[in-house]
Amino acid sequence: MMKYYDVCIVGGGLAGISTAYYLLKYGVKNVILFEASRNVGGLLRSMVINGYTFDIGGSHIIFSKDSSTLKEILNILNGNYVRHRRNSKIYIDGRYVKYPFENGLKDLPPEKRFECLRDIIEIYIKRLKGEVKEPRNFLEWLYYVFGNCIVNTYLKPYNEKLWKIDLSEVTLEWVQGRVPTPPIEDVMKAAVGLDTEGYKHQLNFYYPLRGGIESLIKSLINEISGKVMIKVKSRVRRVRLDDNDLIVEVSDDEVRCKYVVYTAPLNESANILKDVLGGMSRELSLLRSVPLIVTSIGFGGSSLPYHWVYVPQKDIIFHRFAFLSNYSPLNAPKNCTALITETSLSNQDELRSLNEYTFLRKVVEGLEYLRIVKSEKDIEVYNITKWFNAYVIYDRVRSEVLSKAKSKLLENNIILHGRFGLWEYLNMDAVLSKSQSIARFILSKSE
Ligand SMILES: Cc1cc2nc3c(=O)[nH]c(=O)nc-3n(C[C@H](O)[C@H](O)[C@H](O)COP(=O)(O)OP(=O)(O)OC[C@H]3O[C@@H](n4cnc5c(N)ncnc54)[C@H](O)[C@@H]3O)c2cc1C
Repeated sequence: MMKYYDVCIVGGGLAGISTAYYLLKYGVKNVILFEASRNVGGLLRSMVINGYTFDIGGSHIIFSKDSSTLKEILNILNGNYVRHRRNSKIYIDGRYVKYPFENGLKDLPPEKRFECLRDIIEIYIKRLKGEVKEPRNFLEWLYYVFGNCIVNTYLKPYNEKLWKIDLSEVTLEWVQGRVPTPPIEDVMKAAVGLDTEGYKHQLNFYYPLRGGIESLIKSLINEISGKVMIKVKSRVRRVRLDDNDLIVEVSDDEVRCKYVVYTAPLNESANILKDVLGGMSRELSLLRSVPLIVTSIGFGGSSLPYHWVYVPQKDIIFHRFAFLSNYSPLNAPKNCTALITETSLSNQDELRSLNEYTFLRKVVEGLEYLRIVKSEKDIEVYNITKWFNAYVIYDRVRSEVLSKAKSKLLENNIILHGRFGLWEYLNMDAVLSKSQSIARFILSKSE
């Protein structure tokens, strides 16, 4: 007879693993989790090569606006963390400008500093007088808040490099609550050389001392192993309805369950969910995301004292790089540097047809140009990791498709969760607190 579970979790990234953790904590014990890859962790995986530890899903730091969630994450890490004051930059025309850009105007040449200050004050006054049209999309919003100079120098080229689409296609939904607007006084202070800080919720951040960002997953696994059934190399192929239950099919198995917590990418779920969603499921393929390549590089010698650096410049292949050995000294052997670069691509086909050798060459050229490495010969270890989904794109299609699919799935006890299950720009803190709410919701239904 088919095995029955109260909850079946699809996907073993942070969303899936932390949901299992909270379900167990709240007393829901009959749980199974299916993970498609050989290992759990998803974007939070770390890789150790010859004494270097790389976060192969890109630069991850721990922070939260919500102090109780932050405390919860640190509790899970059980003392295995270090605290940092952010030291991050934007590379503009040969200079390392303090991040956020509007707080780093003092690092620009005087003419540029003046221009950026003039434009942001001008737009500020126009906004107050109601002389400027309300923005309708992300691009218009950028000009509406920051004025021409900051947008044209940094925000537009950087965001175009990251999102790989016309920024006017990005809806305002993306901005709301995510991109803070700077107090005008802080920008004025920054322009005359006084120290100010922006994005204060991540000014101080945490990072695991040992084991890279994956140690967050490992700490959760420690709590649930042996108590929750975790099946790796088990890609879920189909979820279908059967009486009042759900049947979850993987390649060589199928299970019956009451609830499914679904964290697999929605844009790849048309077939998996077609029995539940009917014709609507085809629309899931319309959801757009940005694929990413993370290149990990270890080399001898120390490097710049920064955490991460944004690179809007077009002819450098990556849009951001991070010195992971500055996140934790244990991420690299003594006097060596662990670095990752992040490069987004326009679509998944580009990722599939990637020539890794040519790509790596371009990454190294970028690092040579920035004088981070002298030549390819300095590099001791490297790795390239491809991610088909990294950033979900907030376009008009997104809200239309999601609102219909979400409610239909929930009616049938399929709860969407995670960055790609909910198709939301979720950071780890948001994922964790949603896992808690989902576990509570399931508990309340089963009591
Ligand atoms: C470049 C980058 C930098 C980031 N930096 C930060 C940061 O600094 N701080 C922060 O808080 N957050 C950061 N985040 C966000 C953070 O990575 C996510 O919030 C979190 O990892 C999402 O976890 P998830 O489980 O939702 O998704 P994922 O990690 O993608 O996990 C989904 C899992 O489902 C599995 N799966 C897929 N399909 C199937 C299937 N059919 N059957 C079974 N399993 C399947 C996948 O293999 C994967 O393991 C960053 C994200 C990116 C991309």
